[in-house]
Amino acid sequence: MATNQDLHTAARDLMPGGVNSPVRAFGSVGGTPVSMVAGEGPYLTDTEGKRYVDLVGSWGPALLGHKHPKVIEAVHAAVDQGLGFGTSHPAEARLAELVRERVRGENLTGAQMIRMVSTGTEATMTAIRLARGVTGKNLVVKFAGCYHGHSDGLLAAAGSGVATLGLPGSAGVTQAQASETIVIEYNDRQALEAVFAEHGDNVAAVITEATPANMGVVPPSEGFNAFIREITQRHGALMIFDEVMTGFRITEAGYWGASGRVEGWEPDIFTFGKVIGGGLPTAALAGRREIMEHLAPTGPVYHAGTLSGNPVAMAAGVATLENATAEVYRHIDEKAQVVADALAAALSDAGVDHTLQKVGSLFSVAFGTSATGVHNYAQAQAQEAFRYGPFFHAMLEQGVYLPPSVFEAWFLSAAHDDEAVGRILQALPAAARAAAG
Ligand code: PLP
Repeated sequence: MATNQDLHTAARDLMPGGVNSPVRAFGSVGGTPVSMVAGEGPYLTDTEGKRYVDLVGSWGPALLGHKHPKVIEAVHAAVDQGLGFGTSHPAEARLAELVRERVRGENLTGAQMIRMVSTGTEATMTAIRLARGVTGKNLVVKFAGCYHGHSDGLLAAAGSGVATLGLPGSAGVTQAQASETIVIEYNDRQALEAVFAEHGDNVAAVITEATPANMGVVPPSEGFNAFIREITQRHGALMIFDEVMTGFRITEAGYWGASGRVEGWEPDIFTFGKVIGGGLPTAALAGRREIMEHLAPTGPVYHAGTLSGNPVAMAAGVATLENATAEVYRHIDEKAQVVADALAAALSDAGVDHTLQKVGSLFSVAFGTSATGVHNYAQAQAQEAFRYGPFFHAMLEQGVYLPPSVFEAWFLSAAHDDEAVGRILQALPAAARAAAG
């Protein structure tokens, strides 16, 4: 049997860093990346046969847990018909319908039309092009620490893997591309006012994570999203609400996502991903009809994709959303609260200064930050990140697979039952002592 170390050694020879997405390389926590070979419910099994309670959830898609029978059944049925045809397919409209049904609010338009794409990166990249096409303006405003995928213009001061690696952006992004993205601190209204005061005529869009979860979880301050809505509207810019992470996971405003529809406002363009693909490559952008019809073939803004709306991926997404009931969200919220409370208690007992960052069922921990809290990227980066490596490895040792970076959120699923949660709670005290150093 190949060990994790054997596989990683071989992989490093074949693939940069031995991985296909940087955070998987364990760069910020050290040690050997674990090669998983199977997932079931809340558990993953590695190549050596060790079982872990999974708190990564495939980075978000596994809302129902791994290998949910209904999702697997739907995927099998789709596969039996063929893998893809490059044509229209009934399941595309079904998934679009499910998204539209759930993304609405009283007197609000919601997601009238939807375009399926294959990744969250493609969704935000296309949303930006659409915003520029609709407004005829060039500049995009983003917040430091918000991650919107790896398209060139959005890699300035991004969170997620970029935060983990400590890179300011990325080599290979031209000055010209970077110069069309204005980056300001999250939760900073004055900075946003200043940007619009200076560049107001030429801002195509402000893009924001609905609730940032790629610099650790950072809740928007009271009314901050509504303020973005108001100021963009005032200046004729679009608001792009990136719900790739939060969409159909966070229940703050109903069980579709995190936007403020209960407060009576809505963004111009939503982006979704992760959960709506149920574990297969699907993401989407969505919005009002008059905006979305700017996309080809009805409009002049080009977007296309060989695999967009792939029938197998649509089947996984449809089965996931059809089974994502209010009860699923209630369960995940409840279990997330239990784990988050136990995490905070274990760290306090071990004397580790921290803040527990949480919105809905998404949470993360930031070490050494209790004096200021974490409200933006500068504060997230200033934390005692070195404590996370020992913490992570103590959990791994005890059979709990956490995100291998302090800047990532922890994901629970509908499959995290009392037994799985119990194993997490049991592991926390030793990990907290390891974090104390
Ligand atoms: N937007 C947000 C908020 C994300 O969290 C991510 C990925 O984590 C993306 C966009 C990019 O999605 P993908 O990795 O599918 O390209």
